[in-house]
Amino acid sequence: MKSKVMAVAVLISGVISMCGCHSHEYSEATCTQPKTCIGCGETEGEALPHLFSNATCTKPKTCKKCGATEGSATGHSVSIGACPECGTIINADVLYKIEFQLNQSYQFMDMAITAINTTDQDNLSTVYMDFMIAWAHFENVKANLRDASYICKDYPDLSTLKAKIDKAERADLSKPESKDVDDLNAFLTRANKFKDLYDDALKEFS
Ligand SMILES: [Zn+2]
Ligand SMILES: [Zn+2]
Ligand SMILES: [Zn+2]
Repeated sequence: MKSKVMAVAVLISGVISMCGCHSHEYSEATCTQPKTCIGCGETEGEALPHLFSNATCTKPKTCKKCGATEGSATGHSVSIGACPECGTIINADVLYKIEFQLNQSYQFMDMAITAINTTDQDNLSTVYMDFMIAWAHFENVKANLRDASYICKDYPDLSTLKAKIDKAERADLSKPESKDVDDLNAFLTRANKFKDLYDDALKEFS
């Protein structure tokens, strides 16, 4: 009877000594793994939490320690123009095309204004001719505005610019009806109104 008890005791001590043959040597806990024994793989505690940076326009939330990501990038907050979040110019090529049209229109506008401002006011026939030249330049301005508006139409963020361009483009700018001074003045009034709307549209673009 006594010998049987001894045998069990020996067996237990044997098990204990087998398990205690190494003291655990833990690696540091990481975002994905708790402290882990290099020898036997036993773990202690829990994995550390990720240290996420905020999502940006182009990158999802990203752990500063392990690079793990969560969710998705926020995307730029504009469809065109400078992103207020990151400063990237979105669709720069489209903006360039609009700028090109507006620059063209500005050349014609300048010629029209010059034709009006340099006319000989003492000679109504000359005034009429110069106003007709101005009117032709204004027509070219309008053609450029139509092209610019057409480019804008696909970009909701340009809706204000497009509205202002369209408003200028639709301004009544019929040519002077005669050499009569009233008709010439009426044309000047139309031209001034058009120029105001035009300037307003250009200001919106800059
Ligand atoms: Zn171990
Ligand atoms: Zn992490
Ligand atoms: Zn952005």
